[in-house]
Amino acid sequence: MSKITFFGATGTVTGSRFQLEIDGKNLLIDCGMFQGPKEIRLKNWDEFPVSPATFDFILLTHAHIDHSGYIPKFVKEGFAGKIICTHATAELCRVMLKDSAHIQEEDAKWANKKGFSKHSPALPLYTQEDAEKAIALFQPVHYGDFFKLSENTRIKFHDSGHILGAAFIDIKTQTTHISSKILFSGDLGRPEIPVLNEPDQVYNVDHLILESTYGQRLHDSKDPISDLVAVIKRSMDRGGALVIPAFSVGRTQTLLYLLRLLEEEGKIPSYPIFVDSPMAIEALEIFEKHIHDFDLNARQQKMAGKDIFRPKNLQICRSKEDSIGINQHRSGCIIISASGMVTGGRIVHHMAQRLPDPKNTILMIGYQAEGTRGRSIVDKKETVKIHGKVIPINAQIEIIDGFSGHADYNEMLAWLMPFNKKPENVFIVHGEPEASQAMADKIKQTYHWNVTIPKFAESFDID
Ligand SMILES: [Zn+2]
Ligand SMILES: [Zn+2]
Repeated sequence: MSKITFFGATGTVTGSRFQLEIDGKNLLIDCGMFQGPKEIRLKNWDEFPVSPATFDFILLTHAHIDHSGYIPKFVKEGFAGKIICTHATAELCRVMLKDSAHIQEEDAKWANKKGFSKHSPALPLYTQEDAEKAIALFQPVHYGDFFKLSENTRIKFHDSGHILGAAFIDIKTQTTHISSKILFSGDLGRPEIPVLNEPDQVYNVDHLILESTYGQRLHDSKDPISDLVAVIKRSMDRGGALVIPAFSVGRTQTLLYLLRLLEEEGKIPSYPIFVDSPMAIEALEIFEKHIHDFDLNARQQKMAGKDIFRPKNLQICRSKEDSIGINQHRSGCIIISASGMVTGGRIVHHMAQRLPDPKNTILMIGYQAEGTRGRSIVDKKETVKIHGKVIPINAQIEIIDGFSGHADYNEMLAWLMPFNKKPENVFIVHGEPEASQAMADKIKQTYHWNVTIPKFAESFDID
């Protein structure tokens, strides 16, 4: 008998943390940070309900902070086991966890300076030193490797096609009497995301833990690349700048890949393209090392000697001065910066600069969680608050959702179709409540499977 307990990503898309007690081992699958509105972020400060020292392993689906960002805190609180993930995930985490620690430290400094913390002095959730300690515990594996957790249980990582290194984690216990397979979807990618492989097909799953970010939505753009060309043309004709908020890891690299390709095919001229996110730049270097994880198209181009992520006029902005320098370019340029939901990072400054001018265009390409500035922008609100000031949203807002790294509900149903047998349990997580409910209903209607939407800290015994 195994037991699964849901300690995050219940009723929300962030904070993925699931405890699995199996075959004498205590596992945590994903160790994510809660992100978004303050009441959700505050949960990162709650004591973890089970002592971290009692866990043997953390199994990590992918590097995004909502899946990995709590690891340094978990280590600080006593976790001393191994962290198993793919090689690319381990490398991306090295960059992302240090960056996350840096943000925590800066936030604490800022709170102390402004005196608005309840605690005095305000402390960071974790420090760079904690992140370093966590990084030392990573033990990467390759996709497809069998990794033995215990006598009767092995795990295997399958490509989930969501970001570089992202995986479904397949946990199989086999004895002479029983054979049981548990699958954690992490974030489920989609067919036809440039650079990435399609999500692997998985079969014979007994217990599935499935994300539901797009549980009630379909991606509407059928041809996002043509949409991108059209947006670039319209925005350049308008005579302003095109600003694209994008996650540093994944989306930024996809965009660069496409922009270079479109240039080469003569579909767009070579505009100056600024990438203003130090982490996106470090991630780019990791992407370039992992060509074997790319799809065939990208590999072929790379083998033909092409610098696949570097359009002709790419300008990489490392320092603050480089970043501020972009302000001088009032027209005819593309600015890509993070964070993707405009909650922090250098994009916030670019928004303050560019939103008031109707000549500029803001292109939104990612999921925008409730309560974020990004959501206010896609909802075409009149104003948005930045650094305490009310900024008018006069720039043209364009939205292309076809570059999403998450499968929509039809894509999820299609991926479930060849499962071969009816899973005993499907647990729906990682969605806003309406999205999770919609996904649960669709699976019940389509396949008549047993679907559960777990609540926080709820446990289930599974065979
Ligand atoms: Zn993700
Ligand atoms: Zn996620």
